[in-house]
Amino acid sequence: MLNDEEKNVMTKARIEVDHTGNCALCDSKNVELKKSHSIPKFVYDWLKETSKTLYIRGSDDVNSRLQDGPKEYLLCRKCEGKLSVMEREIAAKLFKKIANYRAQQNSVVVTESMRVGILSIFWRALLTTRSRDNNRTGDDDAALDSFLLSLKNQIVSERCTTKIYFTPFVGEPPYYNLPLDYVYQLERSVGGQDVRFYDKPHRFFATFKVPFVYFYIFSDGWEGSEIYKSSELVEGNIALNNIAVIPDELRAYVDYMHKQFTELKTEMSKNNLDKIKADAEKNQKITGSDISMSRMLGVDIQSKNTSKKQDS
Ligand SMILES: [Zn+2]
Repeated sequence: MLNDEEKNVMTKARIEVDHTGNCALCDSKNVELKKSHSIPKFVYDWLKETSKTLYIRGSDDVNSRLQDGPKEYLLCRKCEGKLSVMEREIAAKLFKKIANYRAQQNSVVVTESMRVGILSIFWRALLTTRSRDNNRTGDDDAALDSFLLSLKNQIVSERCTTKIYFTPFVGEPPYYNLPLDYVYQLERSVGGQDVRFYDKPHRFFATFKVPFVYFYIFSDGWEGSEIYKSSELVEGNIALNNIAVIPDELRAYVDYMHKQFTELKTEMSKNNLDKIKADAEKNQKITGSDISMSRMLGVDIQSKNTSKKQDS
């Protein structure tokens, strides 16, 4: 006979493993599903490492409401493992070279598996937010589902045929003539995954963001003149400091995201600026979050702390 405590443990164990279903990627039936993050965990780890307070950390995430919501059980162990290998490569060879307060790189070397990995982030981020409130039409939903299916097929075949574009924020702000006001958000916000639809012709612009980088995809139906200022994430060496312009569609999206962020930012500025200044004067450890905040507010805290070690 089991005592109550043992019964409780067993019930708990059963609940914890009861995430069986069909894998969203390889379609295996009735398998144990693993918890998926829409934006990879390494991004949130980086935010924590470069933040000082919980408060700032929470505000870094423009989708914190989503992140706090139920986790999605999407993938079987094998697929989760496959995607996490691609994520590790993206983290080491792309993300941490750009989102780097101490030693930002001027170039990156992109591989096919990194491109497939970026597609997999688009796929998961858009799949997990597909049912979120939206004003999509039936035609939009059909186009979105066909896009998600195309992404899935490319991930399964490990071959990227969709053109991925990206905009890194490198060097000294302001970036691409965007207002200085935007710097904190450009450098530190996460998520913002969205698909914006337009008519005549029916087309969309898909995007997501990690610190210091936007990724985006144009559907069919866009003119070359609307795309040409974008930088494609091609295989091989990419000189980041040669990227000087961004497409109008991304600029409009960045403006939109900033409007959403403004309220939070004002609150953060009020609450944190005095503390950051005081810490800088006391020569306490200056975090990446502090540097982004100070760049945005035009306060120079970095110059007198250049000898301070930054982790990222
Ligand atoms: Zn699978």
